[in-house]
Order: sequence, then structure tokens, then C-alpha cells
Amino acid sequence: MSGFVFSEKPIPIERGEGAYLYDEDGNEYLDMGASYACVPLGHGHPAITEAVTEQFERLTYVQASYPNAARTALYERLAETAPDPIDKVWLCNSGTEANEAALKFARAATGESKLVATMQGFHGRTMGSLATTWKSKYKEPYEPLIGDVEFVPYDDADALAEAVDDDTAGVIVEPVQGEGGINPASTEYLRAAREVTEDAGAALIFDEVQTGMGRTGALWNCQRAGITPDIITSAKGLANGLPMGATLCRDWIAENYGSHASTFSGGPVVSAAAGATVQTVIEDGVADNAAAMGEYLQSELEAALGDEVREVRGEGLLVGVEVGRGANRALKELAMNHGVLALPAGRTVVRLLPPLTVDEAHVDEVVDAMEAVVT
Ligand code: PLP
Repeated sequence: MSGFVFSEKPIPIERGEGAYLYDEDGNEYLDMGASYACVPLGHGHPAITEAVTEQFERLTYVQASYPNAARTALYERLAETAPDPIDKVWLCNSGTEANEAALKFARAATGESKLVATMQGFHGRTMGSLATTWKSKYKEPYEPLIGDVEFVPYDDADALAEAVDDDTAGVIVEPVQGEGGINPASTEYLRAAREVTEDAGAALIFDEVQTGMGRTGALWNCQRAGITPDIITSAKGLANGLPMGATLCRDWIAENYGSHASTFSGGPVVSAAAGATVQTVIEDGVADNAAAMGEYLQSELEAALGDEVREVRGEGLLVGVEVGRGANRALKELAMNHGVLALPAGRTVVRLLPPLTVDEAHVDEVVDAMEAVVT
């Protein structure tokens, strides 16, 4: 038997420590993808290991209908750190499930069905989230998906205002598009999105699966824009490597959520991991480090790569280097010749999203590698 979904890379990874991964021969790799943004605190962080081990020994799993201290502590921590007045949370196991719930909640709370999503957006691969994802290559073999989804150009407030009407249940948007090529939305656009959805009585859903947990320089990206959506979705780094998703929402959404649930919603072990992750991100000022190191990374890349690349862009430690058609070749060379593991964002962009705990020495290492590969 062999797996058949993800194509395998020829580097058998055995262990991880901080920002580095090690293969079976002991070769070291700088994990500039943070394993798909799933380890904001780096690999093997002691606070997470301790929380998980302690909880595993005490109680591995109990269904969500029984209160459990690890889950309750996580609810409280998320409510404390979410922007007011978001104080309700539903837990699940992945980003697509968090978005699936958000779309269902928006429909149930408004009684409407129309969903508005953005071109180049990515929200996951289950049938509902997939219907709001832009690229046809992800969708075509599985159609028909759920209907009533209108796509609008990203970062275009006028187009959004035209699409949102009284029949709209929700607007789903990434404040910085990840998979779509690392495209940050302007603050004006995000504020306009807040206004038009409020006027229409529709739910504004911020997909913060990739931007959350401090990655863009604030715990939640919406805090940078100074707005509070109706729903924020989170996953990836939420439990620093364990599978967890969360759908955070305002009261009017939570009060009318319909009937939605999941067996593994917030099991004690993943809840303990997520609680320790959120606490460490806050206490260690991880979002501030992401802001400072993101600025340093972007300016060093611009200085080193100059006109050799089309653009360096991003927010915090979610950075894209637009290298043109050679993105896959660059990624291969980075891995095989320079011990740097990065990710693509479409066919033309090298995506850098390291653990948020990296320092200047890590940044210098990746900038040297990018310079060697690109110039
Ligand atoms: N939303 C965004 C913005 C993502 O980047 C992703 C995954 O890359 C998802 C949703 C889906 O998350 P998952 O793969 O955990 O289902």
C-alpha cells in the first residue's frame, strides 16, 4: 500500500528541532515553510511537548459533550485574545472544516444562501469550502459543488459592494491571500468589506487559517486592519503541529448555528496543545517577532535579489518572492543544494513562511540561499 495524494519529496524527514528539520542521514534543513505554517513556535517546542504529554497521560479523549478543563481553558484563552465582541468558538480538526462550519453558520444565522468569495482565494477542499475556492483545477473533477457562490476580484471594494445584497449569507475572504500568490489586501478594502456586509446583514468571514496565530504581526490579521469580522477561522499553527481548527464568532452567529458538530471537536490532547500554543505566542511576544523579522526578511531579500525578481511582498512572516516561471526549479535547488525547504504559491511565487520564532541568523541563511539560486 502507498499513499497517493501528496507527491513525495525525496527527503525522508526524521526529526525536527526549532526552525530545523533533519533527514534520516542527519542532514539539516531550514524549514522556511514551517511545515505548511503548522509550527509557529518551531519543531519540538518544550511548552507544547509538556502540555501534550501531561494531558495524554491524564486523559487522551472524551467527547465534547462533557466539559473538560483543557478544552475550557482553550475556549477562554481564544475568547480573551479574539477581537471584541467575538467570544464564541467551535473547534474542529482542519482549516477546511473551520471554513465549512463558517459557511454553514452564515447561512443558518442569516437564512440566506448566497456566498461571495474572491478570485484566487483558497479556503479548503471539502465540498463547501471548495465551492468558495477559486482555482478550477481543485474543483473540476468533483463538480457540481454547492451552488450560489459569486466570485469577485480580490482587493476591489467596488466589485464587492456590487456583489453583496440582501440575499447574501456571507462573504469569505483571506486578509492576505496565501495559495493565490501572497497578496495582501489593503486596509481600506477590508474596512469596506466590513461596511457592506454590515449594511446587507451578511456575515463577514475572515479566513485566517494561514494569517492567524501571529504570522502577520498581530495575533489575528483583522486586528491590524482595526475591524472585527463576524467569523474568524483558524487552523494550521493553532496547536503547533497537532490537527486543530477553530471557527470563532460573534453571538448572533453562534445563537443561530443550526445543527453542526464533529466527533473530535476539541479533544483534550489537541486542546492542551492549542492552549499552550496560544499562551506561548502571547507571552513570548511572537507576533512582534514576526513583524520585525518579516520586515528584515523583505528588506534583505529586496537588497540581495534586486531586479532579478519581479517583486517581494507579504506581511509579517508570510512572504512571497515573485520569481516568474522558475518557482519550482528554485524550490528544488533551495532544498537539494542549500538545505532550505520553502513552498510554492502558484507557479511563479516562492512562499516563505518560517516558524515565527526565527532570528536574524535564520533570515540571513535563507537570503543567501535565495541569492545563490535566483541571481
Ligand atoms: N484556508 C486557507 C487560507 C489555507 O491556506 C488553507 C490550507 O492551505 C485552508 C483554508 C485549508 O486548510 P486545511 O488544509 O487544514 O484543510
